Amino acid sequence: MPNYRDNTVSIVKCSEYHEFEAVKRAVKEAVELLGGFESVISPGDTVLLKPNFICAADYRTGATTNPNVIFAVADLCREVGAREIIIGEGAAVGNDTDKVFDELGIRERAEKHNCRLVNFHKDEYVYVMNPLAKIFKRIRIPRTFMESNVVINIPVMKTHDALAVTLGLKNMKGLIHTSDKKRFHKWGLAQTVVDLGHLALPELTIVDGTVALEGMGPVVGEPVGLGLLMASADTVAADRVSMEIMGFELEEVDYIKLAGEQGLGCTDLDEIKVVGEKLETVKRKFKRLSLDQELLKEMNINVMACDACSGCNNAINSYLYGLSINGQLGKLKDSTLVYGQNPVIEGEDGRKIIRLGMCTRNMPNAEGLYVPGCPPHPNHIDDFLQGHGLDRE
Ligand code: SF4
Repeated sequence: MPNYRDNTVSIVKCSEYHEFEAVKRAVKEAVELLGGFESVISPGDTVLLKPNFICAADYRTGATTNPNVIFAVADLCREVGAREIIIGEGAAVGNDTDKVFDELGIRERAEKHNCRLVNFHKDEYVYVMNPLAKIFKRIRIPRTFMESNVVINIPVMKTHDALAVTLGLKNMKGLIHTSDKKRFHKWGLAQTVVDLGHLALPELTIVDGTVALEGMGPVVGEPVGLGLLMASADTVAADRVSMEIMGFELEEVDYIKLAGEQGLGCTDLDEIKVVGEKLETVKRKFKRLSLDQELLKEMNINVMACDACSGCNNAINSYLYGLSINGQLGKLKDSTLVYGQNPVIEGEDGRKIIRLGMCTRNMPNAEGLYVPGCPPHPNHIDDFLQGHGLDRE
């Protein structure tokens, strides 16, 4: 399908990423290589910046966008005449966006940089038709998004246990209503993220690779001080170049492949024009999530993912990985963990049964302990099990 966006992607080094002025110079350079902020913003525009504030983890962990990048973009937008700069986010299910703004110090800095914060979860949502979508033809979108003249997407570069990587396209999921976020997990995350792209592609995407995240993304992996920024008007091309830097093949990342096939942007590296740093010189292979299956076997822990959508896969893998790296898997010795949309348990006599997630609430032969949530949050699973004394070795 034709792609009408300019698929040039700039790559710029930003090694002093804790220093605001150095970051601002790097952001400016990355966008100047594409024609400058003035090519995107007209005087008087309202500009919406969409960072990744999934939770209240500091950017040094790699889980959230570096605020230096966000406020550098804000200042540079203002310098070319933007009238109002809004920073909008709807944190992940189970996180309070206002608290995230507070705990990350975003509210304080927003005042200094004269930016308005919008918690999408408290914004007015308007139904918008999405005729190009394959799964949903109508969805709620925050009014602030609909009324902004320009949207600049500022995701952080991360691995993701359900989608392999999370970059620009996936970052727009922060826009939608919490109950639609849960539905995305039910309906199939890859195609729903692409469907959302048909409706909500930003004018500019700046991938924050200053402190990226590898391993068990999107929250509890290991930070990578990569010191890079990637920018493009074509979000898909920015994602394609970023995942190439991380060492992921297109075949490994369904939603970016689908986005290319469905005309959202360019995924062909031979067609994408890379400017600034050479792609070959900045590659750095990212670690993938790897649960130690041998250790699970040794502990006699049986994990039954019964048609689970990515929400539960994500949450439960995170939970198990967290226990494993902290040497606490013994808590679950001789247990069966069951989750997913068609949960079944057979021949598990004498074992501790732990049912995880809303789909297991009324499952056939329901027994054992039920941990609610859709998906259950990894931290809540641990708290819940501790509360019920099922975590003792
Ligand atoms: S409980 Fe888990 S498997 Fe069920 S709909 Fe929610 S995220 Fe999906």
